[in-house]
Amino acid sequence: MSTETLAKPLTGRVAVVTGASSGIGEASAEHLARLGARVAVLARRADRLRELVARIEEHGGTALPIAVDVTDAAAVRSAADRVAAELGDADLLFNNAGVMLPAPIEELAADQWQRQIDLNITGLMNVIGAFTPQLVKAAGERGVADLINTSSIAAQNIFPTFAVYSGTKAYVSHLSRHLRAELGAKNVRVSALEPGIVGTELQSHVTDDGALQWLEGSKETMDWLTPQDVAETVGFIATLPPRANLQQVTIMPTGQPS
Ligand code: NDP
Repeated sequence: MSTETLAKPLTGRVAVVTGASSGIGEASAEHLARLGARVAVLARRADRLRELVARIEEHGGTALPIAVDVTDAAAVRSAADRVAAELGDADLLFNNAGVMLPAPIEELAADQWQRQIDLNITGLMNVIGAFTPQLVKAAGERGVADLINTSSIAAQNIFPTFAVYSGTKAYVSHLSRHLRAELGAKNVRVSALEPGIVGTELQSHVTDDGALQWLEGSKETMDWLTPQDVAETVGFIATLPPRANLQQVTIMPTGQPS
């Protein structure tokens, strides 16, 4: 095996990362680029994507910024066309954009319910719809492709006031298991990534006082994960031998019990 292959095991691969303008997506895009992948970075904030691309290019990587709202299915399809035209067919999709807006159910915060459903479910599906043809084609040609969906431990565990968010993430995990059954035979590995608490901008969108206090209090009993911790997990999933598929990966702060 050449030194290049060892140092940059994703050389020749084309990765797409959604939610790449901050947090887990941003760190993962940089990490996948360091591992040798050409990376398309998707989110709404074009300025943040430009800064990310500049950093990746500074380290000799290749990245394509695409400012897109993933809840807009037509815009995501156009983004997929651009990826194929400018980088080649995607063979690694990190489907990661998401939002968490906890609130007691009796507050009837229907606008927040809708935002979570629109992004965490419909947006996720728009991205799957736009890129699955490329993943299947690339897997046929190159022998492997990856679809990594960001779920959460909220998909499995019970957090009062997080019901709607948790419901969207349970959708992501269960969907991922089903997609394995369809896509695995076509050499597309499907993984659900379920992190515990990671320090990102996710918490800055929370407005519910109870949830904010719980999050703040948790810092006294644990060191939150960093986006880099999760990015390295994404890299690990994608660099396994083609026959091996981590179908569900839970990464927790060591001090977070559940
Ligand atoms: P961030 O808030 O830092 O990142 C969210 C990303 O999603 C941003 O890049 C944001 O960019 C993008 N985004 C939001 N809305 C849209 C949209 N409509 N179209 C396109 N992109 C959008 O949070 P995290 O990095 O923490 O979150 C990443 C994923 O990890 C989410 O799915 C989250 O649910 C999950 N997760 C996070 C945990 C945590 O503790 N942080 C724990 C478990 C799971 P922009 O605003 O520029 O569009």
